[in-house]
Amino acid sequence: MNKVYERWWDSDKQQWMYQEDETIARLRAALEVAKIPHYVCEDCFYSCPKSGECCDSDTDPTMCTCGADAHNAKIDEALAHE
Ligand SMILES: [Zn+2]
Repeated sequence: MNKVYERWWDSDKQQWMYQEDETIARLRAALEVAKIPHYVCEDCFYSCPKSGECCDSDTDPTMCTCGADAHNAKIDEALAHE
């Protein structure tokens, strides 16, 4: 059975769009908003050093301890594939 592609002209992008492009665009948009910020706690001692809100001077400010970097890296990797 042949797959039926719906297509339409996107005047913003000046190109033909296909149903699959639209699905991928929606998935990409969903992935973008699925990115999470670094953890910030009311008690700044427990905030992620990378949030910029951490007041524990013993931590490395470039080190993420909350998992946001690992989480967002997976999203960036998925988004990097066209
Ligand atoms: Zn973090």
